[in-house]
Amino acid sequence: MTAADVAIVGGGFTGAVFAIQLARMAERPLDIAIVEPRSRPGRGVAYDTADPDHRLNAPLAIHFVYPDAPDHLPAWYAERGEPARDPGALCPDGNLYIRRSDFGRYVEEQLRAHFAGNASGSTIRHIRSRAVAALRTPGGYRLALDDGQTLDARLAVLAAGYERPQAPPPFDGAVSGHPCFLADPWDTARIGEIPSDARVLVLGMSQTASDAIAVLLRNGHSGRIEAVARHGLRPRRKPASVVGPPPDIVERLIRPVSPFTAAHGRQASVLGILRTLRADVRRAEAGGGNWFETFGDLRDSVWEVWPALPPAEKRRFLRHVRVWYDVHRFQLPPQVEAYIAEAETAGQLSFEAAFCVAAESDGDALSITLRPRGGGECRRKMFDAVVNCTGPGMRPDRSGNPLVRDLVARGYAAPHQVGIGFGVDGACRAIDADGRPDRHLRIVGPLTYGAFADQQGAPFIALRLCKIVPDIVASLRR
Ligand SMILES: Cc1cc2nc3c(=O)[nH]c(=O)nc-3n(C[C@H](O)[C@H](O)[C@H](O)COP(=O)(O)OP(=O)(O)OC[C@H]3O[C@@H](n4cnc5c(N)ncnc54)[C@H](O)[C@@H]3O)c2cc1C
Repeated sequence: MTAADVAIVGGGFTGAVFAIQLARMAERPLDIAIVEPRSRPGRGVAYDTADPDHRLNAPLAIHFVYPDAPDHLPAWYAERGEPARDPGALCPDGNLYIRRSDFGRYVEEQLRAHFAGNASGSTIRHIRSRAVAALRTPGGYRLALDDGQTLDARLAVLAAGYERPQAPPPFDGAVSGHPCFLADPWDTARIGEIPSDARVLVLGMSQTASDAIAVLLRNGHSGRIEAVARHGLRPRRKPASVVGPPPDIVERLIRPVSPFTAAHGRQASVLGILRTLRADVRRAEAGGGNWFETFGDLRDSVWEVWPALPPAEKRRFLRHVRVWYDVHRFQLPPQVEAYIAEAETAGQLSFEAAFCVAAESDGDALSITLRPRGGGECRRKMFDAVVNCTGPGMRPDRSGNPLVRDLVARGYAAPHQVGIGFGVDGACRAIDADGRPDRHLRIVGPLTYGAFADQQGAPFIALRLCKIVPDIVASLRR
């Protein structure tokens, strides 16, 4: 048995920034343990990649670990001579879209610097293990680790991030074990093993799908690649007229009133918000502006707009609007856009709005039946590889993560009422099955989507953490 003041489960970007900010703000030296099976803490799913075509999907300038020093990362990048090592990072809009591996290295370096010393004299250690269960104790939580150890802490922080994507129907049956079916799109080693002449079907059209396609094309893939999604929506391109440094995201996110609410007041319906947004875009375009900057006002207001929506409106958004919102919210790195445009123009790559209605093993290949969206004839096609890019699961009650399932089963943390992520209060205290906030269990990062809706991008996560850490510091006073 080992013990700590604070046990952070998950050492990706969220867990690392949490540990750094806690060590910076703590009023006394704390013993902070990060439980993370990866050897390189600070990277997580997004940044623990060696692939040179995996790049940040937004300019370097809006990524940070220290909201009070947003120039720290650009200075770090320049001082290490990275622009010369990776000249392809600089894009025509004048911004750097760096490799995710480089950003991961930066976050890991910052974390390790805080292992070595920090403002509060706290100890931060990395326990290379996986937490599989939790028990409430009189003073906090006891975590069971997969190596048989236990870890007692006054405060447990769940920063477990994304679920591995699960095979969607009709791939969730016998076909899920077929060698042609790649369930995990982040397994770039397996994508690299796809023969160059293979007929590839990509399920999904999001950034993850584009990452997989970019890896195939960079590896000299010559076979046809087809991407399908039920909605057929692809990430929107940033207008070419939007050039130069992005607006100061920290300043926009810490305003007492968000840009959208300042302009339009509080809105309680999704339809009302959409109508307002469309009117704003029309006005902007009539005046020579563009949708991107107008949409940015809404994106940077979600922290205020989302919690004010009634639950039924949140569900309406998730059912009908989220896909549309996401394709405007998440751009592709320009380098990946270029790969994709070239292959599309050459006729090697196609995108289609269609449903996969059946999948059967056919020798070394998979026979897939596709039904076009909006009707039309079903057609059967053979594929040598199917890559599942349908996105991570976000329902704690169906999680593949034993700790997440255990927290739900014991009622220590209840899924958010809209069904995505966990319910938490404004200070990220877990709301238990009886509706009570638990000061000994905080949940941070993407698992709080239901509560905040904006906890996916690095800047939004980092700022939320900075907002809640003072409350946590106070709760750890003896
Ligand atoms: C492919 C991809 C690309 C992205 N690109 C960008 C981008 O360019 N810019 C941007 O702002 N955002 C991007 N994002 C969003 C990104 O999610 C956030 O920036 C951030 O990285 C989320 O970090 P996280 O630590 O919460 O989650 P994760 O990265 O998922 O890390 C969670 C960590 O928790 C660990 N863990 C899980 N369960 C346990 C357990 N039971 N015990 C111990 N450890 C556990 C996992 O091993 C993992 O390392 C991207 C996301 C993905 C998936």
